[in-house]
Amino acid sequence: MKILVVNAGSSSLKYQLFDMDTEAVLAKGNCERIGIDGMVTHKCPGKEDYKANADLKDHRAAITLVLKLLTDKMLGVIASVEEIDAVGHRVAHGGEMLRKSAVLGEDEIKYLESIVELNPLHGPPAISGFKACKEVMPNIKHVGVFDTSYYSDFEPKAYVYPIPYELYEEFKIRRYGFHGTSHRYVSGVAQELLKNKNAKIVTCHLGNGSSITATMNGKAIDTSMGFTPQDGVPMGTRSGALDPTVVPFIMKKKGLTAEEVEKLLNSKSGLLGVSGISSDCRDVETAANEGNERAKLALDILVHNVKKIVGSYVAEMNGIDALVFTAGIGENDRDLRAQVCKEMSYLGIEIDEEVNATCPRGEIADISKKGAKVKTLVIPTNEEYMIALDTKNLTK
Ligand code: AMP
Repeated sequence: MKILVVNAGSSSLKYQLFDMDTEAVLAKGNCERIGIDGMVTHKCPGKEDYKANADLKDHRAAITLVLKLLTDKMLGVIASVEEIDAVGHRVAHGGEMLRKSAVLGEDEIKYLESIVELNPLHGPPAISGFKACKEVMPNIKHVGVFDTSYYSDFEPKAYVYPIPYELYEEFKIRRYGFHGTSHRYVSGVAQELLKNKNAKIVTCHLGNGSSITATMNGKAIDTSMGFTPQDGVPMGTRSGALDPTVVPFIMKKKGLTAEEVEKLLNSKSGLLGVSGISSDCRDVETAANEGNERAKLALDILVHNVKKIVGSYVAEMNGIDALVFTAGIGENDRDLRAQVCKEMSYLGIEIDEEVNATCPRGEIADISKKGAKVKTLVIPTNEEYMIALDTKNLTK
């Protein structure tokens, strides 16, 4: 069974073609600068990578090009588009109604359009990406896999904000959580490694966007991102959690509008805002190692907040069996992992410094100290595989 996974952003469309009988990735790539000028990168194992400029005026042009590349005699991996059995779409926000991955029909799309206000950045491109794919592949099923659905079993105490309840009822202001597909994947791998479906797991997805999730008995019970991906730990350019009064205070002091202050907290804060150097963790670490105090402070704030949230989730679950690191920083940054795990022995978290420093990139690693009560694991995330798996299960 061949499944195409599509992740449409405002000016990009990433894709992976899976053979789900063998679970192999047959091809993957990215169309970038859609609506600007257009560029495509296409990779297939065993073939030379293909990179070219392309005229990509919209998502329809992008998906048409993707299908052309997948079926190309030289660059392709399938003889015709008919070989694709289903398409899985990454959708960031499923609102309160789309609580599980679902075949996308008219009702689902109408609902997604009705909640675009909750997800103004990622909602419209996901919808136009789906519509473009449906147009060029009308006879197969298209499945939506929602970042929020991993959190759909939350108890109200975990998702209702302590503000007037009518605001939740009227505007659906609540914690939704994001990165759910990644947390679901890595916590599932951790459950398998521990051979315990009921394990208490804290997963740290630390990348340009970062979130932390607590999973217990196979279900997420809390997560650090909230109404939007702005909540929780500091990120590349996002502040993470703040005293809410900071917002009107900045607006008054700097004479900013709501949109301007939102932009400041979304694109000019986090690692970039504090360090003044970069949103990229590697750049900030390089500067910190060269003695830049603000770069060091930015990293200290990140570590401080990750520890704080991990600790609070251990308290919520009355224990922890595994702590998992994933995504760009979590998978690659041994120094940050070591900092987070430092002085956590009270909770049973102790790592083997040597293993942490030398574990190979891109592979699952158990970095726990011998005899540690808690397993500390590095697990490369694989959201695309999760999307392909849900799509297979809903369409086979
Ligand atoms: P992601 O959003 O998951 O692609 O992660 C991007 C983040 O991962 C950026 O802040 C990168 O600096 C960080 N990152 C990637 N590789 C490394 C590395 N080897 N060491 C430290 N940070 C890294």
